[in-house]
Amino acid sequence: MTNLDFTSLSLHAQILRNLSREGYETPTDVQREAIPIALAGKDLLATAQTGTGKTAAFALPMIQRLAGSRTEGRRRIRGLVLTPTRELAQQIHAGIRVYGRGMDLFATVVVGGVSQHPQVSALRRGVDIVVATPGRLLDLMDQGHIRLDAVEILVLDEADRMLDMGFIHDIRKAVAKTPSGRQTLLFSATMPRAIATLAAELLSQPSTVAIKPTMTVAENISQTVLFVEQGDKRALLKDIVGDDNVKRALVFTRTRYGANKIALQLSKGGIPADAIHSDKTQRARERALAAFDRGRVKVLVATDIVSRGIDVEGISHVINFELPEDPESYVHRIGRTARAGACGAALSFCGAHEIAMLQGIEKLTKQAIQADEDHAFHAPAIAGERHQPRYRKARRQSSGNRRSGRRPAGRSASAHSARRRFQHTSR
Ligand code: AMP
Repeated sequence: MTNLDFTSLSLHAQILRNLSREGYETPTDVQREAIPIALAGKDLLATAQTGTGKTAAFALPMIQRLAGSRTEGRRRIRGLVLTPTRELAQQIHAGIRVYGRGMDLFATVVVGGVSQHPQVSALRRGVDIVVATPGRLLDLMDQGHIRLDAVEILVLDEADRMLDMGFIHDIRKAVAKTPSGRQTLLFSATMPRAIATLAAELLSQPSTVAIKPTMTVAENISQTVLFVEQGDKRALLKDIVGDDNVKRALVFTRTRYGANKIALQLSKGGIPADAIHSDKTQRARERALAAFDRGRVKVLVATDIVSRGIDVEGISHVINFELPEDPESYVHRIGRTARAGACGAALSFCGAHEIAMLQGIEKLTKQAIQADEDHAFHAPAIAGERHQPRYRKARRQSSGNRRSGRRPAGRSASAHSARRRFQHTSR
């Protein structure tokens, strides 16, 4: 890997100034590879995840090319970015504003869950770039507020997630209204067959870039696993977040239902908590994030789908109430703590059916996660399974009956509740 700086990428002097003001010194891998391709006007198929710097990888060349082709007169939508979630759309929009300062381009966000009026007003005033989620985009197109016949550059961001979220028809409908001679940049964290098919449909002789996810965990994050019966997880969580060492905790659950339930129980127990997930309105999510940011809410419970939009400083603890199915999500989740050089703690609750997930995480990060056996709900039987060599195979055969998360035979409920009197001290 060469250590080129941004000046070697033929970027406009004003863009270089904007990057330098942001403190960007060297391009990331995806930027180094994608920017020259995109600046040359070619189509691009890129495998890259959030956190690799992919936003700037498409936004910088887009800004440069659109600023270069800008003509006098009314602004028309010449750049379109499609992205799966409102949070991502807002993040990308914020990025474009920063990277494109002084480039005479206007950008706006078109997302659902909020009133369409401010969006329509912005569109009426004229914009060069729209960052949109597919549903609201289609809605405003149907109402005649948006025309895509001047689009020169189309970006599909996190294409795999957009497909997972069922946006494929909306994407096809929107893209059909753009000129066939446009430039298309498709970014996806993974490259399943459905994405390859979509790429073959929408891209023309694309160059490809594949960035291996940097799945290393920052050194300033201390990682701990806590073996615990599924049924004890809530009490354990309450113990931990009730501790004064925990300043601001982000808790991850697998389901929206679970997130709501945990937030409600913590609130009832006197610990200010809220939940954030894709069922919540945009306003409710923003309110929860703002309250968390200001410290009015101590615990925010989230699902993976919205995790990438959470960029809050001062998160002292990330707690995996449930381990994620895919190990990459673990790295994304715990990366929400220890921002800006601060220290952070990542605590993972591991139930009987989650041992294989733990092993997957350790394999990906090439790190063994230290166990905390000192907490009030430590489950030695589960901890013991961790080092069973044939555990994975056995698990696959019996995963059905383990999923109930029941207490193993031989451990009485009273023995259990006695252990609850211990106060867990988080570190
Ligand atoms: P992204 O993958 O686009 O979400 O970017 C992840 C984070 O990296 C964002 O906070 C960016 O501001 C930051 N970032 C992107 N590119 C660079 C760079 N070349 N140097 C330093 N930080 C960067």
